[in-house]
Amino acid sequence: MTVVYLLLGSNESNRQHNIKQALRLIALKGCEIVNQSGLYETEAWGLKEQQPFLNQAIAVRTALPPLQLLGTLKSIEKEVGRVETIKWGPRVSDIDILFYGSSVINEPALTVPHPFLHQRRFTLAPLSEIAPQLLHPVFNKTVALLLQECEDTSEVKPALNLEL
Ligand code: ADP
Ligand code: MG
Repeated sequence: MTVVYLLLGSNESNRQHNIKQALRLIALKGCEIVNQSGLYETEAWGLKEQQPFLNQAIAVRTALPPLQLLGTLKSIEKEVGRVETIKWGPRVSDIDILFYGSSVINEPALTVPHPFLHQRRFTLAPLSEIAPQLLHPVFNKTVALLLQECEDTSEVKPALNLEL
């Protein structure tokens, strides 16, 4: 079993419902959810002219090897309602693998740790809520330090009125 950190996101239709569905399916398909951050309301990153996202970081324990996990998560995105989207465009469901234990993976379909995680406040803020002391295996820095050093100025705030 490996502890894996995921980032869930949605900025289309009923965002809270979409994240809840993704969580439910993740727990049904070979992952035990062991920790989850609160929900965050976050400004779109990369392609800014779109609706804000809801994001949540979770920790799961799984026996699925990395590429199988990626395939499972992609099928869950589809099941939640994702259709083909442009890179960084609006989506009903996005599930990114942030860390897979302390593995460093460079495959055509999968880069772990996630290649943008250190540049994205919308990822680091929820992640540091559940794993501030987690060490990034390439940068050798904790998530809390990466957040402190992150230069991303996009707005990221806890969605205090929302609960799953
Ligand atoms: P993004 O999340 O970057 O906006 P997508 O969700 O459409 O875009 O993902 C595009 C591709 O990124 C996926 O098909 C997947 O193969 C690849 N990918 C590479 N590394 C990762 C990772 N760590 N987590 C999720 N997808 C990844
Ligand atoms: Mg993605």
